[in-house]
Amino acid sequence: MFDTLTSRLSATFSSLRTRGKISKGDIESTCAEIRQALLESDVALEVVESFIDQISVKATAALETIQSGTSQANAVFEIVNASLIEILGGQTRRVRFSKNPPTVIMLAGLQGAGKTTLAGKLAKFYSDQGNTPLLVASDLQRPNAVTQLQVVGESIGIPVFAPEPGNGVGDPVKVALAGVAFAKAKLYNMVIVDTAGRLGVDADLMKQASDIRDAIKPDEILFVVDAMIGQDAVRTSQAFLNGVGFDGVVLTKLDGDARGGAALSIASLTERPIMFASTGEKLTDFDIFYPERMASRILGMGDVATLAESAKKAFDSQTSAKLEAKFESGEDFTLEDFLEQLSAMSKMGSISKLMGMLPGSGALKKQIDGFDEGEISRTTAIVQSMTPKERREPKILNGSRRARIALGAGRKVSDVNNLVDRFSAAQKMMKQLRNGAVPAGMSGMGLPPVKAPVKASKKKSKSGNPAKRALEESQ
Ligand code: GDP
Repeated sequence: MFDTLTSRLSATFSSLRTRGKISKGDIESTCAEIRQALLESDVALEVVESFIDQISVKATAALETIQSGTSQANAVFEIVNASLIEILGGQTRRVRFSKNPPTVIMLAGLQGAGKTTLAGKLAKFYSDQGNTPLLVASDLQRPNAVTQLQVVGESIGIPVFAPEPGNGVGDPVKVALAGVAFAKAKLYNMVIVDTAGRLGVDADLMKQASDIRDAIKPDEILFVVDAMIGQDAVRTSQAFLNGVGFDGVVLTKLDGDARGGAALSIASLTERPIMFASTGEKLTDFDIFYPERMASRILGMGDVATLAESAKKAFDSQTSAKLEAKFESGEDFTLEDFLEQLSAMSKMGSISKLMGMLPGSGALKKQIDGFDEGEISRTTAIVQSMTPKERREPKILNGSRRARIALGAGRKVSDVNNLVDRFSAAQKMMKQLRNGAVPAGMSGMGLPPVKAPVKASKKKSKSGNPAKRALEESQ
């Protein structure tokens, strides 16, 4: 979403870093470039103005105390980073749990903003942390909103309180009140109330949302807003702030390719924190909003913290410990281990999204966008078509076995050969790593050169492909 902004800011800082010494004039031109980049990303004018004023004052002051050009450039970068974190809301704000459960969360926002989807995401997120949420279907307006919530609830095993069919039938205030009472009686510790939106801001919508608010007195009102609607997101959030009021913002559709200025404007203009971010249609495409991680992404430094968390969630500790033990004991990494890793990787979500979290990924945008997500399932199908023995000992994969595997996976024999070759190369690289050597292709990555312990080695075949192996052995 912030691709253009990120590449513009990266270019600005690269040029600043080439100066021997930074002058006041350099600060001015840097500020002008950042200002232009923010405006082009649709950030609200008043937010841009105060942001630039702040940076200009702080950066000019920093020039006086810091002498070397590189340190000056780093200081300016740090000032921009800190100011970005600030306009994104500063610290992460979590849901405040009520001392008298259930904690009641009400969702408000326009139709299509993603409230019903978010209700499911929140319920899953909190239930995974040991809470017992109840979903309440108070959007009785939008066609099929009640059924949609029921389907979402069922898919994640969360109960849905839905006494009315919706589609214009039923009183949303009564449903919300009864839902909260039901949760209290049945000892649910959290209630998530989905409410109706409208296509645009109107008086009816605000009245209904405020009536629900007055009836159930929520602990948190979350305003849900589609980040793709650009400047309209700012206007809508101000209308909701005046009409209903809210405690926090949820930005949805951050996976879209809109310019992202709304995200940068809302927290600062409404003085309400962005609490969650939604990045796709799947229930797992969702996370707590961390201003510092977002600032880091915008400045092209990636989001390694989120990447590490996703990996931790996907690779359960047992599998990781097993692999680690294998690695240390010198056992071979087999295709069975590889299969486990592939399944963990698919749990982590879209690979291009993950690659986008790496520092400097802006420069690889084309490759990342062009990444073929189907590659993982095709590779998985090939490994799954092998017998357990073949996965443990790929050396036995002769021509007829490979033909059988290709047929089973619906791939060509050359795809199977390719996979086995790449796997053998990876296995070899792991062996070199274990022996303390820097494998070929990894030198120059900042790792010190380490000599491999000299080991008596039988001259073994390098390739897992029998045709290639035969050729190697004959040489
Ligand atoms: P509601 O009217 O506010 O309840 O909106 P919905 O929850 O029905 O969402 C409207 C549409 O947006 C649905 O097609 C959702 O699948 C989709 N949607 C919701 N959140 C996201 C998101 O973060 N990213 C993307 N790409 N789509 C989303």
